[in-house]
This record gives sequence, structure tokens and C-alpha cells, in this order.
Amino acid sequence: MKSVIIGNGIAGITAARTISTVVPGAQIEIYTDEPHPYYLRPRLIDFLAGRLRLEDIYAYPPEWYAKRRIVVHLGTRVAEVDVPGKRLLLEDGGKASYDRLLLAVGSRPFLPPLEGIDKEGFFTLRSIEDALAIKSHAQRCLLAGLREAVLMGGGLLGLESANALASLGLHVTVLERGRWLLPRQVDQEGSVVLQEQIERLGIRFALGAVSETILGNDGVSGVLLQNAMTIPAGLILCSAGVRSSVDLAKRAGLAVDKGVLVDDQMRTSAEHIYAAGDVAEWEGKLPCIIPVAIEQARVAAANMVEPGSATYHGTVPSTTLKVVGLDLTSIGVIAPQEEGYEELRKLDRDRGVYEKLVLRDGCVVGAILLGDRKRVPSVTKLIKRGTDVSAHRDRLLDDDFDLETIFQ
Ligand SMILES: Cc1cc2nc3c(=O)[nH]c(=O)nc-3n(C[C@H](O)[C@H](O)[C@H](O)COP(=O)(O)OP(=O)(O)OC[C@H]3O[C@@H](n4cnc5c(N)ncnc54)[C@H](O)[C@@H]3O)c2cc1C
Repeated sequence: MKSVIIGNGIAGITAARTISTVVPGAQIEIYTDEPHPYYLRPRLIDFLAGRLRLEDIYAYPPEWYAKRRIVVHLGTRVAEVDVPGKRLLLEDGGKASYDRLLLAVGSRPFLPPLEGIDKEGFFTLRSIEDALAIKSHAQRCLLAGLREAVLMGGGLLGLESANALASLGLHVTVLERGRWLLPRQVDQEGSVVLQEQIERLGIRFALGAVSETILGNDGVSGVLLQNAMTIPAGLILCSAGVRSSVDLAKRAGLAVDKGVLVDDQMRTSAEHIYAAGDVAEWEGKLPCIIPVAIEQARVAAANMVEPGSATYHGTVPSTTLKVVGLDLTSIGVIAPQEEGYEELRKLDRDRGVYEKLVLRDGCVVGAILLGDRKRVPSVTKLIKRGTDVSAHRDRLLDDDFDLETIFQ
């Protein structure tokens, strides 16, 4: 049986690895339009900042693929899926048959409908090619003495990218529409602490900033905001979220909403076709994060080789901000809107520490941990296991209380 995977990101590679483990020697082929073997997208940040070389971001050497008999067709875009014929039509004119197919085509950056985004110097960051283009434009700006840069979007990726640009020597202003940073990961109180910490790295913020036009003649020269302010910039990096890459599935006649609709077994509406990762919409959710892609890909792969053998039950969302010297992890429910929750907090602005635990029925169901990584594994475990912490409630956030003792 031939398993074919479109997409060589974390979902695609996890599925390939799972299939090769469950059925050693299985025939597995991956098609990817990128010219590179699998690499870790989060490492693009360190590559952009000059902290990693290109060869450091590839995950596996060629022997890894050969040992598992995984054949990867690099630089090969799939143009269409012929569902009745069970084959792929490739952009280079080739064709490829499949018995089971996994759509792991991911997502792409959202581009806000602004005048001027086609100008030179306006970028998004998703791939190695994007990072290379941003790096070389940044070097040209610095050589020309243009140090100002704008980062549009104060989300996780935006803040990490802003820090990377600052490490290159650029003066970065982050524009964020919302009233505080990372609204999905921190509450307003935590956001103030976070912003102070990032400002210490030399990054400036404009909150409540709605961009209207990208200014410039040949290349970008700045951003005009709705309040008529102009922020100068020789480089603009837009980090305004992602949209699932659903076009291929739509043309193939699969059921699609914001993502490709999948059931608990990661099956799409078409027989023998599965989807996982940023492209898959499960129970109306499209978190577009790595832990979800990994869990979904494992389930999809198991069902591709043995239908009905695995079920996806959802993933507790957990995200970490990776800005040097700053640790922010947020897990599960962080700002409950309904009654029945209890919130425990600890704030130490001088040390840049903000910790919050959200409890329901005596169990931790969510947490914000800013400025302290040491509690992350234990808190994650408490949430996943649904451990009752009532007996320790008053000591949970004490500096000298080891959460691991709860499990003993
Ligand atoms: C810079 C950066 C940092 C990030 N950091 C984090 C982080 O710290 N934590 C976290 O949880 N998430 C992070 N993310 C998000 C994370 O990378 C995504 O959730 C993850 O990559 C999704 O994996 P995927 O396999 O579903 O899709 P993708 O990684 O998008 O892979 C899909 C692949 O399919 C290819 N493809 C698409 N269409 C076709 C076609 N028709 N034919 C052939 N190939 C095709 C694409 O080119 C791509 O290579 C980050 C993203 C970026 C860009």
C-alpha cells in the first residue's frame, strides 16, 4: 500500500515517521514545493537573527529518510488531486498514484488588504526563502544607514521576529492593533510586565495602532496609521496570522470551511484522504501550532495504515515565547469568561515575573508563566492529569514550593 503525503512540514514528517514505525518498510512518498528537506520552522527566527546557520535548521540527514524508505520529492508542487482516479497531478506535468493520501499542506501568512504591500521591503516570514530575503534586505538597509524597521503584529511570532530584527542592528517598532500584546496568551496585567521586559531589549511598541497604507515610492519608507501618524521604516515585516492552505482541497471537491474539515480520525470528506496540521479544521478549531500538528499527524498516520486504530481527542493549547532572556508560557484556559473559575496570581515587576494559575473544581485548567520556566513541566503535568490541588492551594505559587511534591 502506497501512502502519499503532500507537505514536508511537521505534520507531514510526523506522519511519515509514524507510518514507517507502524509498518516498517512501508512505501511512503512526500511531495513538497519547497526545495529543502524538512526543517524546523521555529528555528527560522534564530536563522534570521544570525544565531544559527542554514545547515543547523535542517532536522535530519539524508540517511534518516533512506533508513525509513521515505522518498521526498523536493521542489515538486502538487497542482491537483484527482480523487476518483486516486492520483496527484504535479505542476511539472508528472502524475503520482496513491492508496492513502495525507494533506499536510499547512498554512500561509495572512496579508492584510493594505495599499502598498507589493512594495520592495515588505515581507512575511514562513520559509527559508522568506528569511533569506529579509536578511539580505536588512543588510542593504543597514549599509544605507536606514535603521528603522516595523513589525506589524504583536503576536508570538511577531515579537520573536521583532527581537530577531533588533539583533541584526535594526531599530524596531512593533505595531499592534489590540490594546495589549498577546491577548490569546496573556491577560492585560501580564502583558504590561511582558512589554516592559521587551522594551528593555530596545524594541518600541505602538498599541492600538491600525495600519492604513504602506508608504514609499520604489521601496517601503514607512507605515501610515489610521490616526495619521507615520512610522518610518526601510523594512516592514508583517506577522498578522495565517490562513490554512485550502485551495488544493477545495478544487478537489473536499468539504472545506476555514480549513479542510476532518473527523476524529483525521478523515476528510473524501475516501482515503486524511488531513492534519495547520490545514485541518477539527471541531471548528484551527490552532495552527506545532503540538496540534504532531498529535493530529500521528492519528492520521495510524488510521491511514489501519483504519479506525486511533482517535484524536484535541490538544491542550500550549505556547512558549522564545525571546532570549524572556520566558513566557501559556497553557489552557488563561482568561475564563464564565463563572466557576478561581484565579491565583503572583506579580513581581522588578524581576519581570507574572504567574497566574486558573483553577476549576480544585484542578489547574490553565496557566500564564512569565519570567520563570522552572514551573512549566509541573504545571503542564497538573493540567494534563487533572490533578486535584485543593490541599496545596495556598502554597502553589510560593517560590519555595516544589509542585512536584503534589505527585508524590
Ligand atoms: C517562524 C515561525 C516560527 C514558529 N514558531 C512556532 C512555535 O514556536 N511553536 C508552535 O507551536 N508553532 C510555531 N510556528 C507555527 C508552526 O510552524 C506551524 O504550526 C507548523 O509549521 C504547521 O505544520 P504543518 O506541517 O501543518 O504545515 P507547514 O509547516 O506549513 O508545512 C506545509 C508544507 O506543505 C507545502 N505545500 C503546500 N502546498 C503544497 C502543494 N500544493 N504541493 C507541495 N507542497 C505544498 C508547504 O510549502 C510547506 O512546506 C511557527 C511558524 C513560523 C513561520
